[in-house]
Amino acid sequence: MPKPIIQFSQTTVQYPSGNALEALDLEVRDGEFLGIIGPNGSGKTTLLKAILGLILATRGSVQVFDCACEALRCHHRARIGYVPQKERADPAFPITVRETVMMGRYSSIGLLRYPGQKDREIVQDALQKVDMAELADQPLGHLSGGQQQRILIARALAQEPDVLLLDEPTTGIDAPTQHVILDLIHHLHREQGLTILLVSHDINQLSPIVDRLALLKNRLYALGTPREVLKQEVLSQIYGKEVVVTDRERGTYVIMGDHHA
Ligand code: ADP
Ligand code: MG
Repeated sequence: MPKPIIQFSQTTVQYPSGNALEALDLEVRDGEFLGIIGPNGSGKTTLLKAILGLILATRGSVQVFDCACEALRCHHRARIGYVPQKERADPAFPITVRETVMMGRYSSIGLLRYPGQKDREIVQDALQKVDMAELADQPLGHLSGGQQQRILIARALAQEPDVLLLDEPTTGIDAPTQHVILDLIHHLHREQGLTILLVSHDINQLSPIVDRLALLKNRLYALGTPREVLKQEVLSQIYGKEVVVTDRERGTYVIMGDHHA
């Protein structure tokens, strides 16, 4: 079994309002695709931020590539790419697509040094991977939501990461584009062996492409293959009695009551 590259040990993250994560034990294995699901406010974003060192554990530890330090600029963390939960770019902010993706290089080149030829090549390569090279010189704010999301994935790829964290990458995007983005992420996992942690509230989108699912509601309620996690008795603890789990040709399918849609 591949070795764990991210390890939560009894990790608690507390805000003044209460615990966002409670006594989390979780290992992410090298090369795996882990989907993280759970209702709003269940600590999904907090889990990713704790890996990145943006939020510190109140108790327990978070280990990244054998390193448990808390420094935001630790070189281990430079190997983790992050696509944050989406905020639409300010349409008036004067930055091009290419410049946005170049930001992914800053942890390697330093903020105040000029990028070199190699950095430009890596940026071009990242733009090609997300099929956005043609729009490289457009202002970011002129792109559609789905195109901007692909640019943010390219920015994370320009970092040449070993691990990619994505927070709700398909939320607020039209359905056909959601598929394009998920296919792209699936491809990055299979072809490049990237370890992927993807947060989503859309269980049915995730379950066909992930190796394992983690079901969170501040605590870890279930962890395993989609078939192991997506069981009526497990999901109804979190989402209530109106959850229906059915077996379909392509795997398990979950139907929720309206207010969870
Ligand atoms: P999710 O991503 O699953 O929706 P979050 O990780 O964003 O959940 O939030 C988990 C809990 O922590 C929520 O109750 C939320 O209100 C709280 N929380 C998140 N960020 C902050 C913050 N910066 N300050 C205070 N409370 C926060
Ligand atoms: Mg969130």
